[in-house]
Amino acid sequence: MARRSRPNDDPETIRKALVDLLTNFAAELERSDLRSKVIVLIPAFHKLRDLGGSLIPKAEASSARDRIIEYFRRYPKIVIDGDELMVVAGIDAWSRRVRELRVQFGWSIYSGVTFRDIAEDANAVKNAEEAASLQNLLGIQPASIKPEQYVLMRSEQDRQAAHRWNVLNEARRKKASVSDKIIEYFRKNVGAEITGEELRYLAQDKKEWARRVRELRTEYGWPIVTKNSGRDDLAIGVYVLEEDRQTYEHDRRIPDPVRVAVLQRDHFRCVRCGWNRSMLSPDDPRKMLELHHLLHHKDKGENTVENLITICNVHHDEVHRRKSIK
Ligand SMILES: [Zn+2]
Ligand SMILES: [Zn+2]
Repeated sequence: MARRSRPNDDPETIRKALVDLLTNFAAELERSDLRSKVIVLIPAFHKLRDLGGSLIPKAEASSARDRIIEYFRRYPKIVIDGDELMVVAGIDAWSRRVRELRVQFGWSIYSGVTFRDIAEDANAVKNAEEAASLQNLLGIQPASIKPEQYVLMRSEQDRQAAHRWNVLNEARRKKASVSDKIIEYFRKNVGAEITGEELRYLAQDKKEWARRVRELRTEYGWPIVTKNSGRDDLAIGVYVLEEDRQTYEHDRRIPDPVRVAVLQRDHFRCVRCGWNRSMLSPDDPRKMLELHHLLHHKDKGENTVENLITICNVHHDEVHRRKSIK
């Protein structure tokens, strides 16, 4: 049987060996025994994989996993077919390597499945802005990305993700609802940029995760911010719990498009003190912007732009302490 390629074989050497194998296979086709044909063809399969794996030189990437991420980094923000990764990886278990890269190693590689979850949730709540920004970024409809296609969203690795990996698995194994797992994970990672891929993994691939995250923000008042809910500096598909506190009961149930409109009208500043996120500092108790209903929700105050103001957490507390709304 032909030998496997040596690690330092260049693509041309492997290609020649493959051609030889296929040439010799002509004689094998003449014979009648199926099993001997199959067995003789095996080395050609191996060679073809070796050839794929040799396209990125060893000096640049020494393992299948390294080759996959190297390939992604050459083509960021472009939809890549799983089959391309199969070729450069040169191994059967390439999809497992992709999962490791995106969940365990902190590379923001999104699969078509995750894009669909996000897009479906955006469509469900008629968040046209979110759907459109996904499409702008990728140049195609997110729903048309296939499950076995992937996009590298950011060129830098999130090194904190490796530290979150154990916490992620611990939360994933718990017997709790998807919603409870998600909020527990966020509360252990306040301020960290969590990817949709992590949340999907946490939800054990249940597609409801995107809807649950939105509910945690809009219904339960957790300050989980995204690009399309007022934090334009974040990448698409990234989620941050800004502070470990739920907003006041009466200020919940604000739809994302209304939230964004209020923030924009108030120029992303507290209407009392002018605080904005660029002034964030460790010894300043002002940590985040919240929305406050002028006429309280329970008093039939509506979720309209006119009835809402942007306010920092310190002034929001003050307003509620004094029970004054002006
Ligand atoms: Zn303020
Ligand atoms: Zn309030």
